[in-house]
Amino acid sequence: MFRKTPPLVFGFCSTVLLGGCNTTYHPVAPAVLGKTSSSKEMEPLIDQAGPVLLDTISSANLSTSLSGLINLKSEPAKKAKLKNRSEAIEIYAHVLQHPRHGAFLVDTGMSQELLSEPKEIGLSWGIRKLSPLKKIKIQKTTEEILHDINSPLAGVFFTHLHIDHLFGMPDIPHDVPLYIGPSESSKKRITNIFSYTSTDALLEGKGPLLEWKFKADPQNKFKGIIDIFSDGSVFAISVPGHTTGSVAYLVRTPNGSVLLTGDTTLTRWGWENTVEPGYFTHDRPGNLESLKKLKALAERHPGLDVRFGHQR
Ligand SMILES: [Zn+2]
Repeated sequence: MFRKTPPLVFGFCSTVLLGGCNTTYHPVAPAVLGKTSSSKEMEPLIDQAGPVLLDTISSANLSTSLSGLINLKSEPAKKAKLKNRSEAIEIYAHVLQHPRHGAFLVDTGMSQELLSEPKEIGLSWGIRKLSPLKKIKIQKTTEEILHDINSPLAGVFFTHLHIDHLFGMPDIPHDVPLYIGPSESSKKRITNIFSYTSTDALLEGKGPLLEWKFKADPQNKFKGIIDIFSDGSVFAISVPGHTTGSVAYLVRTPNGSVLLTGDTTLTRWGWENTVEPGYFTHDRPGNLESLKKLKALAERHPGLDVRFGHQR
């Protein structure tokens, strides 16, 4: 089902000497779903009930370094005397059900196969040894989550392509469309040398990654907003920083609107204290700017249910 990659510590892409490797070399195509929107169109709808059901499922939990989750050198973290320690986090799959367009996931949860057969599905030696796979405890596998949906999966909306957001991919059927932010897969980084072969393997056999094509928000509240189903029910919001193509999603449910921040904030503390993630983030100033924009959105709409990248 998956390509077997050689058991290397890391891969060696041909352009490594020219500034690093892509996140993945999987093919990319423009997304045809969605139309350009704006904060002027989106914001009046946020305080109105919508038609989309949304269930945030904790697929797995683990603990990881607080210095990756939160910038401990920030003034608020120093003031709070936060020190590096192990911090409990969760890996989510958000199940989104649209009355006409069907069922989608935001991010992918956790596949049992990934823990049972990491080498066979193509995770590199480096990822197997250096990532905290052994600490992961599954709550509900992606396969079980999909089984409960009771209808074919119509797509996956990624908040970004860090490998922990692809851990459910072994359970995602090959023909399911996959949506990502702009330049998310093609941005070159030296650190990708450790992960790109594993990311490629998790995407092996799937269709091209479909990039949201954001255009500038005329009100300049965000880098861009897309109305995914052209009916004002679900919006993709460009929030670069954590990664180049990070995306937040705004979902209008019968119980009110939900903001899925992705890893623009991984933790509740980071959100409440307006502190960006630590070494897990590529561009901390850019991440902080996007975090401030999401917080300003939540302040303009106090009823908004905000769900963070890896904590409740
Ligand atoms: Zn993450």
